[in-house]
Amino acid sequence: MVENSLIPDSDVVLKDGSVLRLREQQPDDVELVLEFLHTLSPRSLAFRFLAAGVALPEAAQMLGRVDGRNSVGLVAIQGQPPRVVGHGIFIRTAGVRAEAAFTVADSLQGKGIGSLLLGQLAQVACSMGVEVFEAAVQPENAAMLDVFAHSGFAIHTYSQPGLVRLEFPTELTPEAMHRFEEREEQASASAVRMLLNPKSVAVIGAGRQRRTIGGTIFHNLLEGEFQGPVYPVHPEAEFIQSVRSYRHVTDIEGPVDLAVVTVPVSAVIAVARECAAKEVRSLVVISAGFAEESERGRGLQDELLEICSSSGMRIVGPNCMGIINTSPEVGLNATFAPVPPDRGQIGFLSQSGALGLAVIDATRRLGLGLSAFISVGNKADISGNDLLSFWDGDPRTEVIALYLESFGNARKFAQIAERVSRTKPIVVVKSAIGVAAQRAAASHTAALVSASDAAVDALFEKTGALRAHSLGEMFDLMALLSTQPLPQGNRVAIITNAGGPGILCADACESNGLQVAELAAATRTQLAARLSSPHASVRNPIDMIASASAEDYGAVIDMVAADENVDAIVVIFIPPMLTRAEDVAQALADAVARFKQPIPIIGVFMANSGITGHVKSDHVSIPTFLLPENAVRALAGTCRLAEWRKRPRSEPAVPAGVDPVAVATTVAHCLLEKRAWLDSAETDSIMRAYGIPVLRSAEVETPEQAAQASLDLGAKVVLKGVGPGILHKSELGAVVVGLEAGPEVELAARQMQARLAGTATPVTRFLLQEQAPTGVEVLVGATNDPAYGTVVVVAAGGTAVELVRDMTVRLAPIGPGEAEEMLRKLSTFPLLDGFRGAAKVDLKALCDVIVRLAAMAEAHSAIAEIEANPVIAGASGSRAVDVRVRVTQAQLPALVGAKRVR
Ligand code: ADP
Ligand code: MG
Repeated sequence: MVENSLIPDSDVVLKDGSVLRLREQQPDDVELVLEFLHTLSPRSLAFRFLAAGVALPEAAQMLGRVDGRNSVGLVAIQGQPPRVVGHGIFIRTAGVRAEAAFTVADSLQGKGIGSLLLGQLAQVACSMGVEVFEAAVQPENAAMLDVFAHSGFAIHTYSQPGLVRLEFPTELTPEAMHRFEEREEQASASAVRMLLNPKSVAVIGAGRQRRTIGGTIFHNLLEGEFQGPVYPVHPEAEFIQSVRSYRHVTDIEGPVDLAVVTVPVSAVIAVARECAAKEVRSLVVISAGFAEESERGRGLQDELLEICSSSGMRIVGPNCMGIINTSPEVGLNATFAPVPPDRGQIGFLSQSGALGLAVIDATRRLGLGLSAFISVGNKADISGNDLLSFWDGDPRTEVIALYLESFGNARKFAQIAERVSRTKPIVVVKSAIGVAAQRAAASHTAALVSASDAAVDALFEKTGALRAHSLGEMFDLMALLSTQPLPQGNRVAIITNAGGPGILCADACESNGLQVAELAAATRTQLAARLSSPHASVRNPIDMIASASAEDYGAVIDMVAADENVDAIVVIFIPPMLTRAEDVAQALADAVARFKQPIPIIGVFMANSGITGHVKSDHVSIPTFLLPENAVRALAGTCRLAEWRKRPRSEPAVPAGVDPVAVATTVAHCLLEKRAWLDSAETDSIMRAYGIPVLRSAEVETPEQAAQASLDLGAKVVLKGVGPGILHKSELGAVVVGLEAGPEVELAARQMQARLAGTATPVTRFLLQEQAPTGVEVLVGATNDPAYGTVVVVAAGGTAVELVRDMTVRLAPIGPGEAEEMLRKLSTFPLLDGFRGAAKVDLKALCDVIVRLAAMAEAHSAIAEIEANPVIAGASGSRAVDVRVRVTQAQLPALVGAKRVR
């Protein structure tokens, strides 16, 4: 970043998937800007300066005179040596207004650079107190008018003779924000599209020996029937595996879209420079020894990224195992996998390289086909989020599977995944290690969130992505999702030829939250007619006993599939003497072909006798399992997705009657005094500002004052000791409830003070609080996690929170319906619901507290953690009793459209 700049340098992705650097204009940029102006066509110049024949040196001087206060310039940079390809500036005219203007190189117009300059300029202007932008555009300048019209800003226009004047607030409206996000995603998708559909490939470090990595990749590209030229690049060899080789990528006559780099780490930077010079579009860097290995390696990775960003090249890896596109039109296998995957509809991303190989192998064994495979390695540039954006619109991909070790940008992931999951299931294996670093946790909320990977689960809950806890579970889910319709509900019919496995399967249903379906009477009658043996059972699980033939299977499946009480079918077969597994498999496939409406069905063949992975016939593919437990676990996953899709999607409304400005003011005041925690008066005031009921209270210094203050608070009061070291008050005996207002309070205060005097936690002040009506104690808290955003916790409250650990965690925003869901998930929920004749809690009021607290945390990123413990929830409303709020200096919001900020 340039020194003294207001705006961090950032890399942005253009509509065509290439990358551009945006940075603040510096005084010594005048030369670069002048060069830029010289490259512009007369037409562009006339548009920029609203007149023809402008003297360029003067114009450059004028543009160069930015002071960072009343005028700010932004330059878009590309290439080596760096060239300015776009320029934007605003100059304050009067107070809160500024004139804005920008220009883009003729050859790069229409790629979204103008919108980006406008967006970032507006964002910076807004943070500097410029509220309104003005611009003047000639009516013939259709491209520029288009940028404004589709910016998402609330534009007002005024027409003058020969001039359109525009005016708009610089604040990013949700609509403008949305447009930037949309553009960014389109840009990501086109980068991946380009990566996976190259017209030509070079392998740099292609080996003469097949057994080297470079040699294998080159061989795989040839053998994979890639539909374009593949060029080997090698410093000495004339020929690589009988193909004429090149010393340098720059020696290749034709264009190179994709370069696969397998040279030793020390040579990667030089190779990347050559690729930039050759105008290669994408790099896949297999070589290891970068950020995953050492600090030096991290430096090299940054350098590599720098070369890519400044040239617009995109990069996969480093430290990855390559990419595969199974489309017959492309046939790209740029990996060293010994055998390529089968063609299919699953898009697979693996962060781990070695695991990627095993995955490809396993998918083949299980009969799962892939549309594409990408090993992202260190994710220096292209990440899972880019892939999600691409797969979202890729007609060849129906199911998405991710093996992740880390979420790069979890918020971004949530945003994209939530949309994609509506149409394409996403299965994720996320290793749990190192999810949330243990923090010194002063609140229960922070402890609960950091001690588990609850935030990760909350992320999944929000996005509808299915979390698999092992690779096996991921394959199971992939198999089901890529072949079966989603179940309409959770009622399962079990068809078996042996009692034991049927019962095991029913148990597995129960423990995975599925129901063993109650069959309709008519179905039972039909079944009874077919299964005449007295030992057979026509109740679910349907036990056809060992004598069942393949025809019996077919007939029974027909009957069950027609039953309206059944949402999914599990068919279990244990090979007895008479019936062959192959015949049952055939009966299964035939029955499915007869289905009138889609209903998911799974086979369980409990023997290693040939039927593994799938039962396949012309139009039917049915996943098969060895154990009923695994089948049911996967089925339960698909049910969760189906349920998630049914949930109303309406955005939770911002609660009424909130005063964010008041909260921001209080927090800013606390930050100014360099305090980490709000005091009780501040806490009360921010709770009130968000409409969360608190108890009346007073803070005083002496026992006498305590007695006096208590008289205003009602007949029964609570006394609490306050002091710099006092954290969990009741642990120290610093909470006395049920005191009679008056002298009793004074006595209790003296005793408390005396007892704690001389300890590490002396009482320096007293807090008097009215006593809450009886109710159930609930914890409601939130943390603002830099990676996940606002994590909201609802738990069984009071003083034994960690002991009980009865909690639910979700990501904000939380609507009233979701708040109630969180409460219902608690195992102590019956306490709120009139347990053993107790009065029912007013749930609506409690949900309102959750919604409001979550909204406050989300709207104020400077609130690092907030916890109300307890909220006492009673029949006549909920009241926050003990609230702690920790604040930190919040970071600047991310620049709009920035892929990376440097
Ligand atoms: P801490 O969490 O620091 O120990 P609290 O203020 O949460 O202190 O008080 C501990 C417990 O005392 C609460 O969980 C609740 O059971 C009870 N309590 C505290 N204040 C009140 C009050 N105003 N009305 C009723 N009960 C209270
Ligand atoms: Mg408490």
